Parts: sequence; C-alpha cells; structure tokens
Amino acid sequence: MELLVLGGGLMGLAIAHQLARRGRSVRVISRNRKEAAGFVAAGMLAPHAEGLGGALLQLGQASLDRIPAWVAQIEADSGLPCGYRPCGIVVPFHSATARDAYPTAAWGVPLDRADLEREVPGIGPAWQAGWLFAQDGQIDNRRRLMRALERACSELGVAFEEGCSVGALIRGPEGQLTAVELLDAAGEHRRLDCREAVLATGSWSAQLLPQLPVVPVKGQMLSLQGPQNALQRVVFGPGTYLVPRDDGLIVVGATSEPEAGFGEGLTPAGQRLLQNGLAALLPAAAQWPPMERWWGYRPGTPDGGPLLGAGPIPGLWLATGHYRNGVLLAAITAELLTAAIDAALGQGQLSPELSRLLNAFTWRRFHATRGTTAAAVSAGTLRPRQCP
Ligand SMILES: Cc1cc2nc3c(=O)[nH]c(=O)nc-3n(C[C@H](O)[C@H](O)[C@H](O)COP(=O)(O)OP(=O)(O)OC[C@H]3O[C@@H](n4cnc5c(N)ncnc54)[C@H](O)[C@@H]3O)c2cc1C
Repeated sequence: MELLVLGGGLMGLAIAHQLARRGRSVRVISRNRKEAAGFVAAGMLAPHAEGLGGALLQLGQASLDRIPAWVAQIEADSGLPCGYRPCGIVVPFHSATARDAYPTAAWGVPLDRADLEREVPGIGPAWQAGWLFAQDGQIDNRRRLMRALERACSELGVAFEEGCSVGALIRGPEGQLTAVELLDAAGEHRRLDCREAVLATGSWSAQLLPQLPVVPVKGQMLSLQGPQNALQRVVFGPGTYLVPRDDGLIVVGATSEPEAGFGEGLTPAGQRLLQNGLAALLPAAAQWPPMERWWGYRPGTPDGGPLLGAGPIPGLWLATGHYRNGVLLAAITAELLTAAIDAALGQGQLSPELSRLLNAFTWRRFHATRGTTAAAVSAGTLRPRQCP
C-alpha cells in the first residue's frame, strides 16, 4: 500500500524519509518546493533560547536530543552534509533582572557583561547580561538539510510529484479518506486513490482542511558575509537574531508579520527592522557585505504548537502548524508520525513518551476554539516573548 505525503517541505521530507527507512512505499505530492519554509528558516535549534514552556518545551527538548542521530541517518542515506552545529546560543538582555526572569533560566549559564564580550566579540554596548544555552544549536537548513533530505528520500525510493497541487481530499461513504484530487505539473486534473496520507502542507494547510487553525506568519530575512569565525555562537536578541554558518555567512532574522497573510515580497520597513536590530546586537556587522534577502511563511497556530497525529478524517495524518520551531521539531515529528502510522497499521506499539506527546499536540485541542486563530494572531498571542 502506497502512503501519500501531501507537501514536500521540511515536514513532508522528514516524514517521507523515516517512512521509507521502514520499508514503506511513499509518494510525495509537492506543489512548489521553493516556497517551503524549510528553505527560508534560520535553522536555529533553540527550545531553551526561545524560552519555550510546557509541553512545547518538552517536545523541543525531545527533538533536540534526537537531532544528532537523525542528522547521522540523513547524512548516511544521502551522502551529503546537513550543516548541523551544536554551537550554543547566547540570549542577551539589558539587565540582570530581565535575564533572571527568562522562562528557561534553569537550563542556562548566566553571563555578565565580561562573559558576553567573550562569547560574542563585538556585542553592542547596551547588553549587560545574558544566558548561554550551550545545548542549543543550528542546522544549515537552506543550503544543506533540505537538499540532503531530498537526496536521502530519492535514494530510498520515495517517488516525487513536483509541481503537483492537492486540490481536495476525497472521503468515502464512512467518512474515511479514499483519494486526493490533483492538479499536476502538466495542468491535468486527476484523482489518486489512497487510504493513508500525511498532511504536511505547512502554512497552506487550512486551504485543504478549513477546520485546522493554521495561518501564515510572514518572516523576512537577510544574510551577510562576515569574516570566518567572527561569531561562534548564535545570538538571539529581542526582535533580531544572528546565526553564523561555518563559512562566515551570517543569517539575520526575522520579522514577524501575521497581518501580511500570504502577501509577497520584501518591505522597506521589514528590512530596516532587521538592519536596526543587527546594528544594536553587533555594530561592526552593519559594515559587512550583504548577500541575500528573502521571505517566507511560518505555519502559525493559536498556541504556537504543532498539530500532530491522527486528523479529522480517518486515514489522514497531520504534521503541520510548526510555527517558528519546525526545524527544531522535524526530528521528533518524523518519529511521532511514523510510529503512529505503524501502530495504526498494527505494526508496533507507541511508547508512553510518544503517546503523551501525540496527545498533547492533537488538533482536537482547538476544537472548542475553532475560528479563533486570526483573533489570537492579532491579539499577539502568536508572538513569542523574545524574538519575532
Ligand atoms: C522567517 C522564518 C524563520 C524561521 N526560523 C526557524 C528557526 O530558526 N528554527 C526553527 O526551528 N524553525 C524556523 N522556522 C520555522 C520552520 O521553517 C517551519 O516551521 C517549517 O519549515 C514548517 O515545515 P512544513 O513542512 O510544515 O512547511 P513548509 O516547509 O512550508 O512546506 C510546506 C510545503 O507544502 C506545499 N504545499 C502547500 N499546499 C500544497 C498543496 N495543496 N498541494 C501540494 N503541496 C502543497 C508547499 O508548496 C510547501 O513546499 C522559520 C520560518 C520562517 C518563515
């Protein structure tokens, strides 16, 4: 039986890869790989630096623990590097009081001004205190991870239909999934029968299933070419962060524009915000040559957590709504979805840890608050405490 993965972004690829590793026959339906947030993100692996809490922190920590082994699998299957760097993340503050109130303080090493100057040479004068989260890190999703995942999937026999859009999910008389309607790259409409499919269409998920409270939260980014080794740590400031790749490229992120919807393009205000944040964090970097500017959409949900596991249609699985932590959460998402599908098909049992995580992130938690996503976004509850 062939399993369909709807969406060939980061989640679609990560899940297709794990399913194929278990010997399943998998087909990925991908409308446009280039629009995937997986090619947009900064690639921070930052459950502690982001100040996550509750079940989302636990999910993030579970994923962070799995990332070294997950990356090793992808690199072995693809023959390509993923650009994983467990380099630690520094979160700077204007005062020790603000630092000490940070929600993930228990996982950090406190820094004073002298420590900050050592960890982030050239840091702006306004920053007086900080946390070092040495266990957090980064992965070069844009240039490496996405390509390595695509190659790993191909090597394992995953079929791809690129340029192919899912137009509708077709249900049988009992309400179960029986087929999907496609518009393929040749402009042909066709129907593809299926009994099991994973919805991994990111920010566009509510276009196929309007009851899912997923909305796009646009983010603009830019990159600079710094001197190699100018920065060792990721620097996660309020409103702006700097992610140094191993070749001196510095990725600077990111705006958070829920009001933009699927509005396209860069804006002067967004780019100015990044430049100002950069100048405050690392004044010398304002002189480094700019390389690229780009934008994309985070799949936001009202509580900032993903929708994972069985969906509202029998046979349809959900892996969407990863908002600003999808790169971090890809490893655990792929494991959860493959384990849940295996268990549903009678081929294994879910561990208590995986059951608990799936229960915490079921789409049903929003059932009573259907239709409130836009309100949550405009009320600012989708905005993280530290950094948009
Ligand atoms: C500016 C920015 C910075 C970020 N930084 C970080 C970070 O530092 N760390 C982190 O952990 N996360 C970060 N993220 C979040 C992360 O990128 C996302 O959570 C993650 O990529 C979501 O993966 P996805 O597969 O759900 O969606 P995507 O990667 O967006 O993929 C969805 C795919 O589905 C396809 N699709 C949609 N509809 C259809 C359809 N009807 N038929 C067929 N295909 C369809 C699309 O073409 C797309 O390719 C950032 C995101 C942004 C935008």
